[in-house]
Amino acid sequence: MRYFDYNATTPLAPEVFDAMAPYLRERWGNPSSVYAFGHKVKEAIECARESVATLIGAETGEVVFTSGGTESSNTAFHCGLNADVGRRHLIVSAVEHSAGIQSAADFKTQGFRVTHLPVRSDGLMDLAELDAMIQPDTAMLSLMWANNETGIIFPIAKAGDLCRRRGVLFHTDAVQAAGKIPINVKAAKVDYLSLSGHKIYAPKGVGALYVREGAPYRALILGGGQEKRRRAGTQNAASIVAMGAAARLVLQSLEEEEATRVGRLRDQLEKSLLQLPFVRRNGSPAPRLPNTSNLAFEGVEAEALLLLLDKEGICASSGSACSTGSLEPSHVLTAMGLPRSLAMGSVRFSLGRTTTMSDVNHLTSVLPKFLKRLRGAIPQTFPT
Ligand code: PLP
Repeated sequence: MRYFDYNATTPLAPEVFDAMAPYLRERWGNPSSVYAFGHKVKEAIECARESVATLIGAETGEVVFTSGGTESSNTAFHCGLNADVGRRHLIVSAVEHSAGIQSAADFKTQGFRVTHLPVRSDGLMDLAELDAMIQPDTAMLSLMWANNETGIIFPIAKAGDLCRRRGVLFHTDAVQAAGKIPINVKAAKVDYLSLSGHKIYAPKGVGALYVREGAPYRALILGGGQEKRRRAGTQNAASIVAMGAAARLVLQSLEEEEATRVGRLRDQLEKSLLQLPFVRRNGSPAPRLPNTSNLAFEGVEAEALLLLLDKEGICASSGSACSTGSLEPSHVLTAMGLPRSLAMGSVRFSLGRTTTMSDVNHLTSVLPKFLKRLRGAIPQTFPT
């Protein structure tokens, strides 16, 4: 298999699996129990909390473990929008992950006014436009650190500074940015930040929410007193331990310039494919995650291309994994002004730790013949 879908999910890193395995096998105690057998598990959770905090420049106590990026973002909305009854306005970027878009839609049904911050054709946003959108009763801005489909990186520190000056709470979905680029919550003046384990080589079903010390908090999941009453339910100890190990692993990779290696592979992929006729890149080449490439193949149905690639053992995706198979074009590409036909012909390639030059060469050698085959029905329009 040649895997080009790291933004959908990552494999469990062997060292992460080794770190979590004892908590599935021998150390299965309840972390809330008072005896040592349980307490040892609690210690391991706290060690993981410290590692996740280090990855994002937070204090250990500011990290709450959740079931994933979606729950983290849902919780951030719940906290930020229930903090002040006088504030009934919310700003979300038009290109947020569905976790943010759907949360915003739900708050709209509760009477909140929702403004969608548009993006330009290059996928970037305009800070002056954001500034102008803030109203006296704006409760919160939710702007992702990096987009999952295009890899575009947003000006989070500038947005954070603006929000702090204007008295608006700031949530950022850093699910895709974490481990790929450096993150510092203090420098970026973030109030809430969402993370997901399975995008950084930990298992699916675990995540974390950063909550700035002093930021309003209201638990979404109610019950026991776990996570200092911020998220009820017996912790998923093995997965949390894995998330801590994964945070250490990706931080080390950032220091070892793994991002530069992956960036070179991505650039090689783009160099080869952009030479082909009727292929273009969606979004600005920078600032962008080093592992992500979103390309539009004119005259091609992305789903048909993905099936041909799949037969060749190559995994890639159109849009986000959550909307794959949908007959609607990606809301991200639509927000960037792509016509429906181009949006439906766009494919995301996302690379990671195990991607090699051989993978890239294989992809770029087979893809032209698939394009030819798919465009074969209309050769006069697409001379190749
Ligand atoms: N936010 C972004 C930007 C994502 O890419 C994803 C996953 O695709 C999520 C949130 C959801 O994370 P999870 O699958 O852990 O709920």
